[in-house]
Amino acid sequence: MAIEDIGKNALQVLEKRYLAKDAEGNHTEDVAGLFRRVAAAVAPEDRNYDENADTAALADSFYELMTSLRFLPNSPTLMNAGRPLGQLSACFVLPVEDSMEAIFETVKNAALIHKSGGGTGFSFSRLRQNGAPVNSTGGVASGPVSFMRVFNMATEAVKQGGTRRGANMGILRVDHPDILEFIDCKKVNGDITNFNISVGITEAFMQAVEENRDYDLIDPQTRRPVGKRSARELFEKIVDAAWRNGEPGIIFLDRLNRDNVVPSQGEIESTNPCGEQPLLPYESCNLGSINLVKMLAKTPEGYAVDYGLLRDTVRQAIHFLDNVIDVNNYPLEQIGAVTRATRKIGLGVMGFADMLLYLGVPYNSDEGVALAEKLMAFINAEGHAASTALAAQRGAFPLFAESIYKDGDLLRNGTVTTIAPTGTLSMIGGCSSGVEPVFAYVYIRNIMDGTEMLEVNPVLREKLQERGLYSDALMRKIAKEGTIAHIAEIPEDIRRVFVCAHDVSPVYHTRMQAAFQRHTDNAVSKTVNFPHSATREEVAEVYMLAYKMGCKGVTIYRDGSRDSQVLNIGSVK
Ligand code: UDP
Repeated sequence: MAIEDIGKNALQVLEKRYLAKDAEGNHTEDVAGLFRRVAAAVAPEDRNYDENADTAALADSFYELMTSLRFLPNSPTLMNAGRPLGQLSACFVLPVEDSMEAIFETVKNAALIHKSGGGTGFSFSRLRQNGAPVNSTGGVASGPVSFMRVFNMATEAVKQGGTRRGANMGILRVDHPDILEFIDCKKVNGDITNFNISVGITEAFMQAVEENRDYDLIDPQTRRPVGKRSARELFEKIVDAAWRNGEPGIIFLDRLNRDNVVPSQGEIESTNPCGEQPLLPYESCNLGSINLVKMLAKTPEGYAVDYGLLRDTVRQAIHFLDNVIDVNNYPLEQIGAVTRATRKIGLGVMGFADMLLYLGVPYNSDEGVALAEKLMAFINAEGHAASTALAAQRGAFPLFAESIYKDGDLLRNGTVTTIAPTGTLSMIGGCSSGVEPVFAYVYIRNIMDGTEMLEVNPVLREKLQERGLYSDALMRKIAKEGTIAHIAEIPEDIRRVFVCAHDVSPVYHTRMQAAFQRHTDNAVSKTVNFPHSATREEVAEVYMLAYKMGCKGVTIYRDGSRDSQVLNIGSVK
């Protein structure tokens, strides 16, 4: 595939946000140049392990891997590899210790990370509660939420030089005394907007909800109980807030820690901003995604997954991501050290929903869920095999002997798989994002600077053109309705397969997330979409279902429940 085959929208995104510019704002590279720059920065790391490595040939193969859109590394790698900043990771977690110095040290470090295009996650659970005494001043503490506002303002001010919005995750444990204030901290539209928030839930809490018992609130300083609350009431408060505007999400802390690769390094308390990457304090992770649409082969009957190509792509991607750990210019010395100790990478997928369209499998079907499971099991197994092969040449990750994997095959990387949202990557790849269903087949995208684009899903376009049914008028109708489920001009066999996010029931959304989670080392970025008319009970059911099905967290969104949404369904202007 040649550069010219990269879609128009993709080129627009790359030109606007990713191509290197000089001081006057003129591009100093074209799209081919961008991919050459990235390949040329990542390939030479092979010399660390083999002084005769043919890194020019490797750079060519990485170039082909990316320009064929089979695989793309996360945005910071595309933006910064081979350039002075050189910061290549999307995900970071920083500790927030309970002292003024430590808090503001972390504000500073977060600002440095944001400037370089990374997103940061924090647990605020160690901060003493609002009203607790401050020994040195005789005053009282203002609590986690007040400090979240400080982080939020700092993020606002940095805004990453205009290329990428600073994203944060804020987590508070369910047993923190300020949990109610936290749950409602984004209630007012426009408050703490640079944060996604999630409540850190424990299994003990979920059991208390199921048995309708009280649970203990714990003083973060003394670790002693300081009160009790009805678990079910608190759960309903979370559900109510999420029903109102999609937040907070929940994450299951015990599950994150069950998969904590090196427990000797401490507890996992937070994830990155979109929830897919649990990390230790000061750890970072670079992600990359395989475009599943490119993993299809044409057959006499239609399309089929090309597992041979998928295996090759996984191996190349793991090699690429492992090199990124070495070439990365970390924003802090400590982040470099912690990251190199576990060498976590996160290979995921995008274009899953588009792939199903080509295969003629509805997203909301048992067959769809089964395929998700089969595909991700394959990618995870091949990814681990590739990491084991790298370990044979390069050595296992330094903390391997202390890891949960110590009795098995060597691994080069503490974690291998993560399913990212691929917000920008999927635009570049011209495919549906992550493992989400197609949001809408014809829709309006609000770009950062306020411009709008009307876009038609390429698979639907192809299908309708094949049958001679494509017309602009029909596209406008679809844009207006939001879904094609009730459009009589479209044959039933197409409507059955071309389902959109709102045609998929919350239960199927959750089943799909759980299917991918079963074969993913880290976590899955996924939003369970609800129609505007959904009730609080339906939201509560999904939270329970996600818990029972082994998900690591849940994020829900009820259509129309926020003032501004990035994606609008059924709104054509
Ligand atoms: N991220 C961020 N700012 C953004 C978008 C993403 O900091 O505006 C970080 C965040 O940690 C998120 C991760 O990048 O969880 C991956 O997001 P996504 O897959 O959408 O990024 P892409 O590589 O597609 O740009």
